[in-house]
Amino acid sequence: MIKFLDLQKINLAYQQEIEERILTTFRSGWYLLGNEVKNFEENLVKYIGAKHAIGVANGLDALRLILRAYIELGIMQKGDEVIVPANTYIASVLAISDNGLIPVLVEPDQKNFNIDISKIEEKITSRTKAIMIVHLYGQVVYSEELKNLAEKHKLKIIEDNAQAIGGEWEGIKAGNLGDAAGFSFYPGKNLGALGDAGAITTNDDDLAKAMRALANYGSNQKYINIYQGLNSRLDEIQAAVLDVKLKYIDTENTRRREIAEKYISKIKNPNIILPQLPINGNEHVWHLFVIRIQDREKLQNYLAENGVQTLIHYPIPPHKQEAYQEMNGLIFPITEKIHNEVLSLPISPVMTDEDVEMVIGFINNYNE
Ligand SMILES: *Cc1c(COP(=O)(O)O)cnc(C)c1O
Repeated sequence: MIKFLDLQKINLAYQQEIEERILTTFRSGWYLLGNEVKNFEENLVKYIGAKHAIGVANGLDALRLILRAYIELGIMQKGDEVIVPANTYIASVLAISDNGLIPVLVEPDQKNFNIDISKIEEKITSRTKAIMIVHLYGQVVYSEELKNLAEKHKLKIIEDNAQAIGGEWEGIKAGNLGDAAGFSFYPGKNLGALGDAGAITTNDDDLAKAMRALANYGSNQKYINIYQGLNSRLDEIQAAVLDVKLKYIDTENTRRREIAEKYISKIKNPNIILPQLPINGNEHVWHLFVIRIQDREKLQNYLAENGVQTLIHYPIPPHKQEAYQEMNGLIFPITEKIHNEVLSLPISPVMTDEDVEMVIGFINNYNE
């Protein structure tokens, strides 16, 4: 069977190193806000190129904390609007509404699944304070046009970089393109912990200070609370594991790229729309390899019968979820079409060439 993602195999590739670091942390007797987190944050700063990195409990909290810090600093207020792609994973939208801000959805470009930058300006109002870009499926979304738009309307650019660690635009790393970025190290992400974990990067000193305090009960100094904060810290053990795996992220992303290129050059089936190779300097780290096909269920069943696991990212867009009844009446034709047609093929750094060839063979033999 070809698994969608073999997490055991991915992590066992570094078994000895990870076990040693976990054991050291265990024996140290220090489990929170210690050297492992500090060390990982320093290495993340070096890798991403941003001035600050703050380890937090998960990716959703990373995004929540960025917006919450802007509110505490008086840069945003409850009721302000944040632009976000309509086809993102719901966490991006949750981070906005959780802070009492209003998510304003914008359709994606169906060629690359990322926010259609040309459709942002028409959604900007006097209450718009930020654009949350999401490097969906691992493809970086950024352009001069976006940068100019944000400057013109004095908007913050917040990156949801849960899916694109290691990706770049014109040589600048995702996570260092906007004003602040949220990362997820959920086990299935390109850089995955052994449980929940996340981080924030930014070049803004005041924002970094506020976020660090907010993630620790609103306190920068023990028992002195300047905000009504939350508890969202990165565990020492997770930081130790992530620090091992960060060294290999480029090698792993290179392997993902190889697989994606193989799929793109060898899958020949007129009913299938393949994702595009990166364009306009927006690199792709292939967190997911997402194809489109009209009768998706049939292909998914056929592949399952042949032992190939696939998944759907995502079956229901945020505005159609019960959680967002106030948005259920909105219509986003491109988003809805994407959600009806997408199917994610297996892709991971531990997939063998034989696995990849098998998937290609099955798909090329598939007749609707
Ligand atoms: C995974 C993910 C998140 C949330 O990360 P968690 O660590 O699971 O909280 C946010 N946004 C996107 C696009 C994601 O894929």
